[in-house]
Amino acid sequence: MDCLFCKIAVGEIPSNKVYEDDQVYAFHDINPGAPTHFLIIPKQHIATLNDAGTEHQALLGHMQLLASKLCKEMGLAEEGYRTVFNCNKQAGQTVFHIHLHVLGGRALRWPPG
Ligand code: IMP
Repeated sequence: MDCLFCKIAVGEIPSNKVYEDDQVYAFHDINPGAPTHFLIIPKQHIATLNDAGTEHQALLGHMQLLASKLCKEMGLAEEGYRTVFNCNKQAGQTVFHIHLHVLGGRALRWPPG
């Protein structure tokens, strides 16, 4: 499969790694939208959040809890941070392998644009 994030997850395309385990890979976003902006992806290919089912419940929970663990370790937790899944066109999804954006290090506006 010709998927950018599948290739990043196996090291075929270089990335600035934040974390890895048997289920997920996390790396800094190439075009950061905040002083800290990294992405958590599953190693398994899932195109969009719409394609995730109950069989992915533990994996998605792992991704979300990992975001808070890493933010605590990075010293972002007290001031705050944001986690976001963009799903499909109107949300601005450009890479069709699900990824949890984690942004912090500045005040973030709400609602997002
Ligand atoms: P989306 O718009 O929610 O699909 O987010 C895709 C994100 O992937 C964007 O924030 C991009 O900057 C980021 N991105 C695209 N290609 C790369 C890469 O090769 N390395 C790291 N981040 C990337």
